[in-house]
Amino acid sequence: VNVKAEEKTYTIGTDLTFAPFEYQNSSGTYIGIDVDLINAIAKDQGFKVDLKPLGFDSAVQAVQSKQVDGMVAGMSITDERKKSFDFSDPYFDSGISMAVKKGNTSIKSYNDLKGKTVAAKVGTESAAFLEKNQKKYGYTIKNFDDATGLYKSLENGETVAIFDDYPVLGYAITNGQALELVGEKETGSAYGFAVKKGQNQELLEKFNAGLKNLKASGEYDKIINKYISSGK
Ligand code: GLN
Repeated sequence: VNVKAEEKTYTIGTDLTFAPFEYQNSSGTYIGIDVDLINAIAKDQGFKVDLKPLGFDSAVQAVQSKQVDGMVAGMSITDERKKSFDFSDPYFDSGISMAVKKGNTSIKSYNDLKGKTVAAKVGTESAAFLEKNQKKYGYTIKNFDDATGLYKSLENGETVAIFDDYPVLGYAITNGQALELVGEKETGSAYGFAVKKGQNQELLEKFNAGLKNLKASGEYDKIINKYISSGK
């Protein structure tokens, strides 16, 4: 008799709202590039996924405290993070950008942020960027736990500018959010799947092997094109 070996289940942390990478559809189901990617890789490599939408910084903490086996959350592969995480091969090129409330013509560059309040999501590349450049531009920083608070802060005037990954800001604008990108985008790091340094190496290998297969089969492109229109 052929009995299929019991498939291993991995718990994977992710962000709460980071469309088009992870977000809930109208019935509350998590969808997005990261979600489809990890599920397709799991299918290809014969494992199961228990997805935990914890929020970005909470997912970072959960990997470090071994409460989850890994995370997929539009997470940038940075040298700083490589001290405590092992990353998969990069799966998406990204970077950060500044956005203001649509119609706000008073902020044309970082130089216009002096004395103003700007924001990012806690623990992100955007938050690190703001901290690094605070002295230079003289703004006050507010960090939000999740995207909902961050994007609302522009609407209610709590902040004049927010910083986030540009594919995420672009997706929000495409979907009718009253935002405008200002200035050049900052080159950022590509996204990778992450495990705690030295842990769950077999999961990392499965992710890389699965990603390679999805790229070869065209399924990777299918997933990306489902969420980000090429306009063609
Ligand atoms: N790419 C950014 C980072 O890694 C933001 C990730 C996110 O907000 N989910 O810091």
